[in-house]
Amino acid sequence: MSSVTEPRPGIAERLSRMIRIPTVSAELEERGAEPFEAFVDLLAELYPLVHARLTMERHTEFGVLYRWAGSGGAADGPVVLMAHYDVVPVDESDPWTHPPFGGVIADGAVHGRGALDDKGPLVVVLDAVENLLAADFTPSRDVYLSFGGNEETYGAAAQTIAGVLRERGIVPWLVLDEGGAVVDAPLPFVPGRAAMIGVGEKGVLTVELSARSEGGHASAPPARTAVRRIARAVDRLGPSTFRPRATAAIGRMLTRLSAETPGAPGLLLRVLGAAPALTARVFAALGGEPAALVRTTVAATMQSGGTAANVLPSQATATVNLRIALGETTQQTVWRIRRRIADPAVTVRVLEASEPSPESPTDNAAFRLLAAALAVSHPGVPAVPYVMMAATDSRHFHRFAPAVYRFAPLDMSNAQRASIHGVDEHVEIAALERGERFHRALLERLG
Ligand SMILES: [Zn+2]
Repeated sequence: MSSVTEPRPGIAERLSRMIRIPTVSAELEERGAEPFEAFVDLLAELYPLVHARLTMERHTEFGVLYRWAGSGGAADGPVVLMAHYDVVPVDESDPWTHPPFGGVIADGAVHGRGALDDKGPLVVVLDAVENLLAADFTPSRDVYLSFGGNEETYGAAAQTIAGVLRERGIVPWLVLDEGGAVVDAPLPFVPGRAAMIGVGEKGVLTVELSARSEGGHASAPPARTAVRRIARAVDRLGPSTFRPRATAAIGRMLTRLSAETPGAPGLLLRVLGAAPALTARVFAALGGEPAALVRTTVAATMQSGGTAANVLPSQATATVNLRIALGETTQQTVWRIRRRIADPAVTVRVLEASEPSPESPTDNAAFRLLAAALAVSHPGVPAVPYVMMAATDSRHFHRFAPAVYRFAPLDMSNAQRASIHGVDEHVEIAALERGERFHRALLERLG
């Protein structure tokens, strides 16, 4: 164990400095690359021991990779701690209590864009490493810190870093990236707090449906116009297009939460946790988020066709966005769409496709380590696996590393989670301190 007794003060000020640099990846054109360079320079200033003792590589313009050499052999896979330092834009008309790029410290919290997504999670990683370096601690495995500057724009920084490690024959033993958090009441009837740890993420598929027909005057329409074909196709792609299926992670989530839930709801969760077929049916019937947990979702998002109110359009299109469940593939999904539409006059064109991730195990040493670190930083809070709907940079590692988890060790209320990509994003200073403690406990227990 290390001899860190007091972490270095000033974690809130360091996060504040980071928030004041507007690393808005979606506004790279307008703002230029200067904020991103300033941010990387700031890391060297705020973390002198990290800067002096870890090796640092840049991969692409926006990828930063630190390596902290461990005492173990090369055969031990390293730990990769990930975060991204870009943020999403701010709508100027939104009424923020504190300026979004002010980094204001008030009411025991740090306020501003990126406080939770994802500069807060980044600061707790770097503070933990700096504190351990100050105590002359050496981890028992290699530790990589992988920071990307274009996660929010689906950029290639993290993908390139993952590719570099893979080329070097390095398969991480554990990868930890953003995703879940320490949340209140994770399900409607489950009281208390839980550390929600994403063990997989759904895939994305966007397709364009299009149909042609003869144009002409709208006063004498044929039975099958392009618009009617597209409307029928969209209608056939209802919620039941894809069969619900509860994966292992969902069963484990319910079983773990049942232990925290008293009375009849706890019993219900335990029954559901042991009966995946029943869970799939119940969650699908609930609709919304529960349904999205157990099946591929399909949503028509854009439709077009026609130029005038009294003219039959010769072409109509609809754009459909699908989130693919774990265990399925983009190819199977396209086949299924074609079969459901059952109209050879409707063409299906793939605009964007990203496979769902595999599912990380929860009965392994890596997951036990997360639970052990959590017991230090957040005593009594259970580690609960779940499946993420959104994409993270860690998906690039999940293609070749089996143990990839999506969890930032920060407490987030429901209102705070809603502020991510929204208004009044902020993080409690006490939450940052617990987050730093989590990473320190994790790095101390790699043996
Ligand atoms: Zn993020």
